Amino acid sequence: MLHKFSPNFQHIVDIAVIGGGAAGFFAAIQAAKLSSNKKILLLEKTNKLLSKVKISGGGRCNVTHACFHVNEMSKNYPRGEKLMKKLLPHFMTTDTIRWFESHGVPLKTEPDGRMFPVTDSSQSVVDALLQAARQHGVQIECNREVTAIQVAENHSFVLAIRQANTLLQCRKLIIATGGSPKESGLEWLKKLGHRIVPPVPSLFTFNMPQENITQLQGIAVKNAIVKIVGTKLSCEGALLITHWGMSGPAILKLSAWGARWIAEKNYHFSISVRWVACASEEDLRNQLLHCKQQYAQRFISNYNPLHMPARLWEYLLLKVDIPVNKKWCELSKTDLNRLVNILRNDTYLVSGKTTYKEEFVTCGGISLEDVHWDDMQSKIVPNLYFAGEVLDIDGVTGGFNFQAAWTTAYVAGRAAAMSLR
Ligand SMILES: Cc1cc2nc3c(=O)[nH]c(=O)nc-3n(C[C@H](O)[C@H](O)[C@H](O)COP(=O)(O)OP(=O)(O)OC[C@H]3O[C@@H](n4cnc5c(N)ncnc54)[C@H](O)[C@@H]3O)c2cc1C
Repeated sequence: MLHKFSPNFQHIVDIAVIGGGAAGFFAAIQAAKLSSNKKILLLEKTNKLLSKVKISGGGRCNVTHACFHVNEMSKNYPRGEKLMKKLLPHFMTTDTIRWFESHGVPLKTEPDGRMFPVTDSSQSVVDALLQAARQHGVQIECNREVTAIQVAENHSFVLAIRQANTLLQCRKLIIATGGSPKESGLEWLKKLGHRIVPPVPSLFTFNMPQENITQLQGIAVKNAIVKIVGTKLSCEGALLITHWGMSGPAILKLSAWGARWIAEKNYHFSISVRWVACASEEDLRNQLLHCKQQYAQRFISNYNPLHMPARLWEYLLLKVDIPVNKKWCELSKTDLNRLVNILRNDTYLVSGKTTYKEEFVTCGGISLEDVHWDDMQSKIVPNLYFAGEVLDIDGVTGGFNFQAAWTTAYVAGRAAAMSLR
C-alpha cells in the first residue's frame, strides 16, 4: 500500500515494465528498440530473471510452434483465440523464428511441430533475451516487487516497490507479471478498475484412483479421441496411461479446453475414450468380423487387428468379459457389440488432477474486454499496457504459450514506445 511506504526520493523513468519473464523482457526490448534516449526499466520481484523460460519444456524451452497460418495458429488458444487472431499478424511464428535466429538462437522443429533451440537448452533463449535487453539499454532491477500502482493526475504512474525505499514514477507502464493461481494475487490490478476472470489451472493430467487401467502405466496409443461425458468437449491425439491416470497430448488439450468446466466440477467427472480415432463404427465392425473368418482358430487376445498395444487389447477384452482363451471363431454377436462399444466409448472416472511438469499455465486473468486489442492498452487506465499470461489468454501445450507472450509483448512494447514520440 502506498500509504505504508516511506519514500526518500523520486525516481522517474519513461517506461516501467513489471515482470522479468518472457513477456516482460520481450516488451522491454521492443520498447527500447523504438525509443533511444528514453529510460526503460524492468522490475522483477525475485532475484531470478526469466525463471520460467529456464525451466520450460523440460529445460529445452519450447519457444513456439511450427504453424504458419494465423487462423490455424489462433485455434490453439482456448482463451484469447480472437485476440490472438488479431495480434498474430503483427508478430507471428515466422517472426519469432527470425528474431531468435538473428539473436544467435536458431530453432529446430520436432515431428509434432514443437520448436526448440537447436542447442536443446533453454539457457540459449535466456541468454539471447538478456543480451538483447542489455544491448538496447534496458535497465533491469531484481528484488523489486511492485505492490501498488497509483495513477497521477497527468496520467503517469507512481509505483510502490516492496524492497526499495523509493517511489518510482513512470510515464508508461507495461504489466507482464504472469499468471496468478489465485484471484487475490491480481487484487492490486483489480483495484485499478480492471475486471479479473477468476484464475483456474490449465494443462494438467487426469487422476483416476478408482480405475485399474493405471496398471498399464507406460502404455501409449498414437491417436485416441477423448471426450468429457456430458459436454461437447473432445480432443484427439496421443494418449499415455500413467500410474496415476492418463496424460499425453489428447488429455492435456482437453484439460485446457475444459479448464473452467472441470474446475467447476471440482476435478470429478467422466471421460469417454475412443481408442482408435480414425475408424468408424462400421470399419471396426467389419475389421473384427474379417478376423472372425480369417483368423478363426487364433485366440482373440493374441491377434489384434487394430495394432493396439497388446496389454491394452487384452485389458479391453477382459473389461467386456472376453476371456484370453476365446478364439476368433467363438466371437458372439454380443461380444462383437461390446467390443465395438468399448473401443469407441470406454468410460473412466476422473478424480483429481496432476500438474503437467513440462508446462502448465493459468486460465483467467485480466479480462480481455478491458484491453484495447490494437495496442494492448488498458481501456480503464490510459498509458498502462498488458502482456503475457497476466491476461486471460492461454494456449494448449506445444509452444503456444510462449508465442502468446512474444506476440502480446511485441504489440504492447512497441505501442508504449510509440506513444512517447
Ligand atoms: C514448468 C513450466 C514449463 C513451461 N514450458 C513451456 C514451454 O516449453 N513452451 C511454452 O510455450 N510455454 C511453456 N510454459 C508456459 C510459459 O512459461 C508461460 O506461459 C510464460 O512464461 C508466460 O510468460 P510471462 O512473462 O507472461 O509470465 P512469467 O514467465 O510468469 O513471468 C512473470 C514475472 O513477473 C514477476 N512478477 C510477478 N509479480 C510481480 C510484481 N508484483 N512485481 C515485480 N515482478 C513481478 C514474476 O516473478 C515473474 O518473473 C511453461 C510453464 C511452466 C510452469
